[in-house]
Amino acid sequence: MTSSRDDAAARDVDGIARPARFALPDGVVYLDGNSLGPPPRGVVERIHAVAADEWRDGLIGSWNDADWVGLPGRTAARIAPLVGAAPGDVAVADSTSVNLFKLVGAALVARRGRTTVVVEDGGFPTDTYVARGLAGLRGLGEVRVVATADLVDEVARPDVAVVVLAHVDYRSGRRHDVDAVTAAAHSGGAWVLWDLSHSAGALDVDLAGWGADLAVGCTYKFLNGGPGAPGWLWVHPDHAPDLRNPVAGWFGHARPFDFADEYVPAPGAARFAAGTPGILGLAAVHEALAVFGDVTPGELDAAARSLTSYAIELVEARCAGLGLEIASPRDPAHRGAQVSLRHPEAYAVVQALIARGVVGDHRPPDVVRLGFAPRYIRHVDVWDAVEALRDVLTSQAHRAPEFRRQRTVI
Ligand SMILES: *Cc1c(COP(=O)(O)O)cnc(C)c1O
Repeated sequence: MTSSRDDAAARDVDGIARPARFALPDGVVYLDGNSLGPPPRGVVERIHAVAADEWRDGLIGSWNDADWVGLPGRTAARIAPLVGAAPGDVAVADSTSVNLFKLVGAALVARRGRTTVVVEDGGFPTDTYVARGLAGLRGLGEVRVVATADLVDEVARPDVAVVVLAHVDYRSGRRHDVDAVTAAAHSGGAWVLWDLSHSAGALDVDLAGWGADLAVGCTYKFLNGGPGAPGWLWVHPDHAPDLRNPVAGWFGHARPFDFADEYVPAPGAARFAAGTPGILGLAAVHEALAVFGDVTPGELDAAARSLTSYAIELVEARCAGLGLEIASPRDPAHRGAQVSLRHPEAYAVVQALIARGVVGDHRPPDVVRLGFAPRYIRHVDVWDAVEALRDVLTSQAHRAPEFRRQRTVI
């Protein structure tokens, strides 16, 4: 049983956490990298250089001279090894929501005769909203919302075109059994689209090895690309030639600067670009991804499992009887890089923790959500965070009125 901060520090020897590579404020334990990752060092400077040297001084010439035109592809090439993909099968563009629209729309059209999109009950809202928005386009399809327990049966039905699933549940941190879902879906001929917003950069994602069909993810959570940074998508290379981007903008054209009347899609995933890429946001993602250059998805996953298991062990040992309930799966194979704790005053508890420099977040109705980004969180940070939690709950600091005022973004 681990019982001291020194024991925690001993677990960090030979670890992969490199907090010094991130521009994190002093004295903060940042457990919200699953919502907005912090900037790796150099990213803020890079944004400034792109704005000043490339845009202000270089003007239009920077599309060629600074290779802005190649930046989406260079960024995709940095994401690819983190998700078990070949660079040409990844594209970086738009938001995760828009990428979902493009891929699910393309799948519905390509899979003639199969009209159902399966989504998970309680899944991330944007996945369900986008699927419903698409299905509402005349005659395109329908959405079936399925309980998690029924997924394996429901995805095997012959009318299912594609099943859209978040690999890690944003509220509980539950991680899907990829092999079971994929085998069930493929047994009935359905495609699987993984939303990896809470996985890439923290877990062992292996899209090619999983036998996945399609995937999307954001870059501003565990990939640290910055608020609202462009999303990424992945298309299985066997499917790409048959898929048409429903937002067939000129940047998805094979040769946009031919200005041709006829649309000829770019090869591979690049056809799923739409309009002119937002270079400032993209430059931040590209620079941020350098922080993963010397680590594998398997190493990230092992570290995430160790951190989250340690957090659960400490909460049980140090916060027993203080009204917390572990809401995440106990088996690390079934858990993402996140631990969710239930508490009737979860919102106020989170606010009181933030006041002590431990930044997590709240998800309604009663979840304290703590994210453990393996590139900058160490076991000593877990120790410090759980001690702060224990202190808040034993002193009832969260009962102070200032911690109950709800703000817009929780
Ligand atoms: C964060 C998140 C998104 C974000 O979508 P945006 O279009 O970038 O706002 C989508 N899906 C899941 C599962 C997420 O966790």
